[in-house]
Amino acid sequence: MSDCLFCKIANGVVPSQKVAETDTLFAFRDINPQAPTHILIIPKKHIENNLSLTPEDKLTIGEIMLLANDLAVKEGIDKSGFRVVVNNGADAGQAVFHIHFHLLGGRIMLWPPG
Ligand code: AMP
Ligand code: ZN
Repeated sequence: MSDCLFCKIANGVVPSQKVAETDTLFAFRDINPQAPTHILIIPKKHIENNLSLTPEDKLTIGEIMLLANDLAVKEGIDKSGFRVVVNNGADAGQAVFHIHFHLLGGRIMLWPPG
């Protein structure tokens, strides 16, 4: 997707604060952090949102969750607690239409979310 911001970040065309990269995934710090740790984990493959996932993406989604765990340990938030969040569609506040998993932690969070 040539005009997708997160494809450009994954390709290195748009700079970001990279925290991890694998063959299939890219993780970088959110530009407007909502917690002391706020990392976005994305598949390098352009997938618009949760509804666009297909059975061939099953492995990738599992890899994202495992990477979230690794990063939570590296950030020191594994014991205190963290969230992994996907905003899907307008009501949920999705602003960038390349699926991304927010990894949030380092402060007490409320439930339900706003
Ligand atoms: P969402 O509302 O779930 O679509 O989240 C999009 C997230 O992308 C927001 O938390 C933004 O702060 C973040 N964001 C937007 N542009 C950039 C960028 N260039 N680098 C890092 N994070 C970004
Ligand atoms: Zn994209």
